[in-house]
Amino acid sequence: MLSKHALKSNLKLYNLIDTHAHLDELQNFDSILDNARERGIVAIIAVGSDYQSNIKTLEISQKYPSFVFPALGLHPWQLGELNSSQVNGELEFIEQNITQAIAIGEIGLDYDKRVVKRASKEFQKEVLARLLELARKYDKPVSLHTRYAWRDALQLVQDADIGKAVFHWFTGFSSVLRDIINGGYYVSATPAAEYHEEHRRAVKETPMDKLLLETDCPVYYGRGTKYQSAPGDITRSLGAVAQLKGLDEATVAEQTTRNATVLFSLPSVIASPSPPVILTLTLSVTKRKGKNLKMLRTGSAKQSQSLLNPGRRSDDNNK
Ligand SMILES: [Zn+2]
Repeated sequence: MLSKHALKSNLKLYNLIDTHAHLDELQNFDSILDNARERGIVAIIAVGSDYQSNIKTLEISQKYPSFVFPALGLHPWQLGELNSSQVNGELEFIEQNITQAIAIGEIGLDYDKRVVKRASKEFQKEVLARLLELARKYDKPVSLHTRYAWRDALQLVQDADIGKAVFHWFTGFSSVLRDIINGGYYVSATPAAEYHEEHRRAVKETPMDKLLLETDCPVYYGRGTKYQSAPGDITRSLGAVAQLKGLDEATVAEQTTRNATVLFSLPSVIASPSPPVILTLTLSVTKRKGKNLKMLRTGSAKQSQSLLNPGRRSDDNNK
């Protein structure tokens, strides 16, 4: 493993934005975020999955202002645990805290049979339509999970008249991808772009001005030996995209960071071309638990964990 000194002297650093990270699921995120800065990450879009996850995501973003930007969401995997009044509670929480959110996500559809068994396609579509309506009402971009539901997800996004969306970790059909691009929407590349056939094809087919980088951490990646990802692994996404596109990393970094800045309306200073300062910053550790949060009790976090297992934690979900 490289020491900090070796990192500073051997790695080329670019300004990078991790556009999709589950920071609320990471242990020791303080040291992980320090490492992310050392690798050149200048911003992280932290997505939420449900009530508990949204609260934690907001807390983390308050601890790291201008570095962690929160998105509030309701992941389709959580829907099997929720009745309709709990779904209403989830949506109310998102709306009550919408001014603090840079985007709505992670939201979407998942037609994997293990998920559909617990939450029907119709129920998923009904909830997604309501979340998209919120996004349209407050003019927020959306971060979408669309496994095996690519066409239906795009249809709902277009029906809701959504202007800004990213289809994260896209592995769907080329025909849907073409319509996503023509709709002005984005696709993001994970570290699976190093080896995952469908994802590599999607990245190749996406024009550079519609491509973002992400980690979807703490997903486990790799063929054979797997590793648990963190935002610092965005450099793997960067390297894979550069290789697939036949471009140098600097060009890919510059373009994808600019794209992310536009999609999420981030402060332009974040994407400024000046090289990042390579040192460990002293970060505020003031805990501001609950501040500005309107508490609203919905489903149980413990129950929700059971549905996390089918896919997000491993790249097998995109086979
Ligand atoms: Zn995710």
